[in-house]
Amino acid sequence: MDRAGPRRHRDAHVHPPGGRLDRPDLLGHRGREEAAVTAPNGSHDVVVIGGGITGLTAAYQITKQAPGRSVVVLERAERVGGIVGSRHQQGFTVDTGPHGFVVYGPGGVGDLADELDLGDELLLATDEAQKLLLLRNDEELLTLPTTPREFLRSPLLSARGKLRVALEPLVRRDLREEPVYEFTARRFGWELARTLAVPAVLGVTGGDARRLSIDAKFAYVRYLEERYGSILLGALRVQLRGTQTGRFYVPRLPKFGEFGMRLHTFRGHGMQRLIDALEKALAGQIRLGTRAERLERRTAADGRRWRIVLEDGAALEADHVILALPSYTAAEFLEPHLPDAASALASVPHPDVRVVALAYRRDDVRREPGGIGFLTIPTDRTRILATIHTSTIFPEQAPEDMVLIRTLAGGVQDPAFSSLSSDEAVRMVHQDLVHIFGVHGEPVFAFDHLWRRAIPEYPLGHRDRIADVLRDVAGSGGLHVAGNTYHGVGINDCVRDARRVAADVAGELTG
Ligand SMILES: Cc1cc2nc3c(=O)[nH]c(=O)nc-3n(C[C@H](O)[C@H](O)[C@H](O)COP(=O)(O)OP(=O)(O)OC[C@H]3O[C@@H](n4cnc5c(N)ncnc54)[C@H](O)[C@@H]3O)c2cc1C
Repeated sequence: MDRAGPRRHRDAHVHPPGGRLDRPDLLGHRGREEAAVTAPNGSHDVVVIGGGITGLTAAYQITKQAPGRSVVVLERAERVGGIVGSRHQQGFTVDTGPHGFVVYGPGGVGDLADELDLGDELLLATDEAQKLLLLRNDEELLTLPTTPREFLRSPLLSARGKLRVALEPLVRRDLREEPVYEFTARRFGWELARTLAVPAVLGVTGGDARRLSIDAKFAYVRYLEERYGSILLGALRVQLRGTQTGRFYVPRLPKFGEFGMRLHTFRGHGMQRLIDALEKALAGQIRLGTRAERLERRTAADGRRWRIVLEDGAALEADHVILALPSYTAAEFLEPHLPDAASALASVPHPDVRVVALAYRRDDVRREPGGIGFLTIPTDRTRILATIHTSTIFPEQAPEDMVLIRTLAGGVQDPAFSSLSSDEAVRMVHQDLVHIFGVHGEPVFAFDHLWRRAIPEYPLGHRDRIADVLRDVAGSGGLHVAGNTYHGVGINDCVRDARRVAADVAGELTG
């Protein structure tokens, strides 16, 4: 394995007023902790490699379900949380990765928050978060319609484009796997695919709608076609009656932004709160600054176990090892033992994305940033892929007289954005915001963070390949994988995936 390891992210930069570039301690350093429930010789029942939301949740669930067993989390960084983290400065809260979460299906972040006694700290986004905008022709901000009436009145599509959308129920069912773009075009017409599918995929994942598999990424939409022959009729029926199938739990299809699909974060802390609570619940079970390097199979008198070799040459042993890692890193651990699974995981694309957050005096912003944010139809002029209007949806995350806008840039559309210096990235985003919102002052606060290979893109064939990977891993005798490559990229998905793997492991430990 490459000793330097894959660089997930570059240093985050904060630009204070006056423009001087600091290199802050991004999310706080914590001292090393030793595992509390450690059997002699570094021997454990479970070793979790990776202390992001997935690894922490898995360890927490196993500890609850199999009390008295030794479970330890190895995290190479000096903090846990991985992509999830928040920075607090000058009265602003800036999430460096996810800015919030929506709850869907049982066992997600909402349930985890309850288990961690965080229920009272949940902060619901304002009603403005129900409104999503689209930036067209670099300057026109359109509100996306959420009802048929709004759709008919919206300038989003031409009359012909609208008619084509309305004809969707007549389109023949075709269940061959397709990219999101082709699927949208086949069912709703090319105009909607160009206007909505491309910006939505770019703005949410930095990925390419022409590559992303509808079946892997939006399986529920495909299910509506399979079950009802039409997305529109299926959605209407589910909205009216609710449904529960073996594959999907949807009590009633919520309208965009409706409660249940509403965005949440944590009061006073941002998303970091969830990580802090998990870290506290796992006190003594986390080893920070501990990079696992490879896995060896060991046959001993008491059976076959896994040996986890660390970067410094020390080793631990465990019956179960959970790889709660980006799939390309999990692939490096699996390669000597399950080469097919490793090569499938290594092939999942992960575009770079960059988070740039800028704050302005409210008086310096002519056009109020309404709604949750906007998606963009890519052009040469606008570098921003999407925005989150943080001070609009979570007013407590910025002082009252300030506007805080978080933007996403880069992705497959604009790989060159990753090589910009922090000053350049901030300047580009600032120029876009000047143009779009009529900003006429300098940012009072700027934050920039480049995430390298952070969000997996699920290409065609992903679902089948992952099914094969999970089957191979299940037959390995003690290896497990979980994270954002397997059953969804959102943190709700990661938490549910962590529960899946925790239930398997706890079942084996207690069964
Ligand atoms: C910019 C951005 C915005 C996002 N926005 C949202 C959002 O708004 N809502 C939402 O639901 N989701 C969002 N996501 C997705 C979501 O945040 C991620 O999918 C999720 O956090 C992944 O968590 P994880 O624990 O699986 O992986 P990670 O967070 O990547 O954690 C893996 C951990 O493993 C550690 N590690 C790596 N190698 C080793 C090793 N050899 N030994 C020990 N430790 C190792 C890493 O340091 C890291 O801490 C966003 C993602 C990004 C990048």
